[in-house]
Amino acid sequence: MWNPFRREYAKVVFSSDYIYGLPAVGEHKTFDLWKYKKIRDKLVKEKLLKRRNILQPELCSYDELRLVHTETYLRKLQDPQYVSQILKIGTVDMFYNSILEYYRAVTGGTLLATAYAVRWNMPAFNLGGGFHHAHPDRAEGFCLINDVAIAIEKFRKLRRGFKFMIIDLDYHQGNGNLLYFKDDPNVFTFSIHADSWVEMDRPQNKDILLPKNCTDELYMNTLTRELNDSCLQFRPDAVFYIAGSDPYEKDTLAGMGISREGMLERNVFVYKKVRAANLPLIVLAGGGYGKESWVVYYDFIRYALKNKVRVHGNS
Ligand SMILES: [Zn+2]
Repeated sequence: MWNPFRREYAKVVFSSDYIYGLPAVGEHKTFDLWKYKKIRDKLVKEKLLKRRNILQPELCSYDELRLVHTETYLRKLQDPQYVSQILKIGTVDMFYNSILEYYRAVTGGTLLATAYAVRWNMPAFNLGGGFHHAHPDRAEGFCLINDVAIAIEKFRKLRRGFKFMIIDLDYHQGNGNLLYFKDDPNVFTFSIHADSWVEMDRPQNKDILLPKNCTDELYMNTLTRELNDSCLQFRPDAVFYIAGSDPYEKDTLAGMGISREGMLERNVFVYKKVRAANLPLIVLAGGGYGKESWVVYYDFIRYALKNKVRVHGNS
């Protein structure tokens, strides 16, 4: 029988809704509106990715949004003034629908990536997503909808008791996920970040603050030690990886002084660790700002498309 994935090592999720929704927020000072299209185009040009193999998601439905978000909040999102405040832009009346469509499309992408990763045990990269600051009842830090929380809630309706780990290496702490899952024994949030958005007792989770001026070596030593410990302790069934590019030294908003090579080393370490354990892996882009930012996620996906990771039994 013809196997559609015989020659593929990873899937990429992207759609034109990702492109047409975002520019509606105007010329944003820090976020490169074209970064994901640039990544897609370069991978296609290099013949590492075929357009027909890219998974195209549907918009996340309102029933799916309700799995995590409150009715009151979803009603607030109907108000263009509220949305414009959150995104810190003047007015959004004209483009209001396409902004929400952007978030719903990318969340649909995270849902699709999750379905593929679990069904086919094929690593899946969403060209966006990882809106880790969003709460059930409010938006925060450019995150209107919590895509990872929705994906987890949706999936575990089908498979009760399934254990998820969220590895969040964005520069900023994923406070939305942390608070949402803080008392959930089946979700472990692992975070290394330089900017803490919430202070709380976190017995179920691992939360590590590193200095803003970090070195590649300190970052990797910390990640290696702590992630090994957390994986042994929790033993997840599937992993979401928020591969934020903003610790990169050329990031214009954040930046922890990590080199381009160091960012790839970080991403490949997580990738190999999860895949070698034969766990489904869903990768989200997270943050990353400025014109130079796109190369970090590009390097990572390029690696995944070119390299098959060997599975080491059930360790
Ligand atoms: Zn960030």
